[in-house]
Amino acid sequence: MRLTVDFSALHATVRQMGAQATDPEFHLGQKATALDPIDIALSETGIDVSLKDVNTNTGLLAYKGRQVLLYIQDHGLNVQKALDNRSAGRKYHVAFCKTLTEMQSKGKFERYVATNDTSGEFFISGLSIHTRSPVEGKTQLNVCKNCLEYLNYQGYKQGSRSTIFSRFSLTAFFATYSSFFPHMPSRLAGENDSLYTPDWPMISGRYRADRDFRCESCSVNLSNHKNLLHTHHKNGVKTDNRKSNLQALCVDCHRKQPSHDHMSVRHADMQLITRLRREQSIVKKDMGWSEVFKLADPGVHGILYHYRSKGWNPPDVGYEIHEPGKCIVGQLELAWPFERFGIAISEEDIYIARRQGWQVLSMREAADQ
Ligand SMILES: [Zn+2]
Ligand SMILES: [Zn+2]
Ligand SMILES: [Zn+2]
Repeated sequence: MRLTVDFSALHATVRQMGAQATDPEFHLGQKATALDPIDIALSETGIDVSLKDVNTNTGLLAYKGRQVLLYIQDHGLNVQKALDNRSAGRKYHVAFCKTLTEMQSKGKFERYVATNDTSGEFFISGLSIHTRSPVEGKTQLNVCKNCLEYLNYQGYKQGSRSTIFSRFSLTAFFATYSSFFPHMPSRLAGENDSLYTPDWPMISGRYRADRDFRCESCSVNLSNHKNLLHTHHKNGVKTDNRKSNLQALCVDCHRKQPSHDHMSVRHADMQLITRLRREQSIVKKDMGWSEVFKLADPGVHGILYHYRSKGWNPPDVGYEIHEPGKCIVGQLELAWPFERFGIAISEEDIYIARRQGWQVLSMREAADQ
């Protein structure tokens, strides 16, 4: 569970009382740990599932609203080999790839473990090839390459496949698609308090106020949504609070900084930032590809790489759909308005856009193509 509450009024009162206000983003991030039994089970032991229990509507894998990966625990007589050498183990899946589609169509009854543990360590079991006695243990496993191809993760099809595969990080992967899922794993949220100086909340608050609560990268003004503006340490040293080392960044620009690929952003927050960027003319029509990559949700980057390689023009980001004479009724993540073609994440947005004559693909349909 994560709380988003505007504490500015409370803080104003606290300041009047002469006390020090603390940054809610900064503290609640860690306090709001997972209490839901599903979250605990998913992150600690994993949950036994069959493919039909897994939601694949987005092309990613979800269990009860949480993003998960799937792996097969039973390694049979191969278990010792897999414990000795990760490449010998079964691959784990992060998307509804070719392999899983085939499994499903063949009606193959495989038991998977669904987990959102991003440590990359997996508990596997099986039998000794010599004695047939049970063998079990923890090992690293490799990600399924069909999954990377299916999602065109980091431009897998156009880029250096071996580099993208060897550098694959589960933490970064989950954060990339964080905004597609209603529930966010608590362990991805927040940073460690102890790395900061005790006066950091005050320094951060002052710094952002000095910048008029404007993101120093994309320029979006967040004075009405201050919790979506962070103060970033440019050199990564969280005790180095010299002004020249600080930068006010919206959560979307912040997560796109080097070595910040563990940061997650919720879908509602991303949509809000996109809406504000449009209202403030930061997201515009006819932007170049690099601007589009900078301002789009990282979860649609695979699709962007694909259409760029096909020679398409860059799309509009966060295109708003209006009901005739009414307010905004939906948002397309990516849209080519001239062709009336777009990509959307939420089923409601897809439905609304189709009713207005748009050809809209869900993330999964886009990946299936
Ligand atoms: Zn796969
Ligand atoms: Zn920004
Ligand atoms: Zn940072």
